[in-house]
Amino acid sequence: MAALQIYQFPCLSDNFGVLIHDPEANVTASIDAPEADKVTAAVAEKGWKLTHILTTHHHADHTGGNAQLKAATGCRIIGPRNEAAKVPGIDETVAEGGTVDFGAHRIEVLDTPGHTAGHITYVIPSAKVSFVGDTLFAMGCGRVIEGTPQMMWDSLKKLMALPEHTAVYCGHEYTQANAKFALTIEPDNAALQNRAKEVDAMRAAGKATLPTTIGMELETNPFLRPHVTAIQKRLGMEGKPEWQVFAEIRARKNKF
Ligand SMILES: [Zn+2]
Repeated sequence: MAALQIYQFPCLSDNFGVLIHDPEANVTASIDAPEADKVTAAVAEKGWKLTHILTTHHHADHTGGNAQLKAATGCRIIGPRNEAAKVPGIDETVAEGGTVDFGAHRIEVLDTPGHTAGHITYVIPSAKVSFVGDTLFAMGCGRVIEGTPQMMWDSLKKLMALPEHTAVYCGHEYTQANAKFALTIEPDNAALQNRAKEVDAMRAAGKATLPTTIGMELETNPFLRPHVTAIQKRLGMEGKPEWQVFAEIRARKNKF
């Protein structure tokens, strides 16, 4: 099996575009399509041919390029079954338990609702990668717009259960702001302190801070750490259910 090739590039103001490519089968997928021209340029730069779009959720900054890219390339658009009507140009719907064959690689689908009602995550175990859209961010998580905090927590728990070495590609470069907030929730976490400094240096050098990994998020992302006693104490929520602690952290972030 040829190794999956992955290319990440900035789109719009703070979105990421990501291409995945299997050189043996000569297939290329865009994970979401924030901006058609940027995706087209990235595909051309790599010398690839766009064959698929894998949509994580319906928001316009993730699907705005669908129609133009499909018209230009005839690519097949795969997206979340539970919000399929809101995804422009969708050809095939998938949901948890479903898979997509991509060359020799098998893409697995998880339902991760909360940010939107039908949001999905794509996981490729053979390449040790995941594409989480706006569910999980580096040291942060997506706003709970269409779901409930409990629903979002259940989605995050699915991601937390992935192998720690799994690379995590997210929809946005929000890392620096997320680190500032995370330090208000867990100021004494040394791993978080170190990572915040590294992120500042990376951003000062104009570098992307993503992808991250599940293991790194488990250590430094307060939204994945509602079980930690120091966090519960800081929030005055000792012994409360994890989803309630998560909901409080999310509520504080909304006002941060
Ligand atoms: Zn979104």
